[in-house]
Amino acid sequence: MEKTLVLLKPDCVSRALVGTVIKRIEESGLKIVGCKMIQLSAKILAEHYAHLADKPFFPRIVEFMGSTPVVALVFEGENAVQVLRDVCGATDSTKAGKGTIRGDLGKDIQENLIHASDSAQAAQVEITRFFSPNEIFAYGKRK
Ligand code: ADP
Repeated sequence: MEKTLVLLKPDCVSRALVGTVIKRIEESGLKIVGCKMIQLSAKILAEHYAHLADKPFFPRIVEFMGSTPVVALVFEGENAVQVLRDVCGATDSTKAGKGTIRGDLGKDIQENLIHASDSAQAAQVEITRFFSPNEIFAYGKRK
């Protein structure tokens, strides 16, 4: 069992695609174990996107990601990180495969609807960044 972090970005919230995107993820077999709406500060975004800090588009990402509240989720399941990355598709929506969230519903490389952790190690760091332990739930044996 593995956990991974998802952020449903401002374009997902403002285009009213939150339910559609969550449905697609749930259909992949992963279960929600954490869920909340949050306004991301420039500080937490600088931390979250530190690997892109030297890119020319970095200020645009921070502005975009802080433009509305986002929905943060933790999903759990077997190979959750890879399953979720596959469901999302490639970063650039115009190049993402048919049948993926970004490929079917995303607009471009920035407005690509969803963030999903890219490794098990990143998932641990990112879950801790956005959730406290008492906001993550365990259901035991599930149907
Ligand atoms: P991913 O979100 O697929 O893990 P990255 O970590 O490389 O991809 O990028 C993080 C986010 O930064 C992307 O989801 C996208 O919103 C934004 N981004 C990446 N590259 C660009 C770009 N060239 N122009 C604008 N925004 C970008």
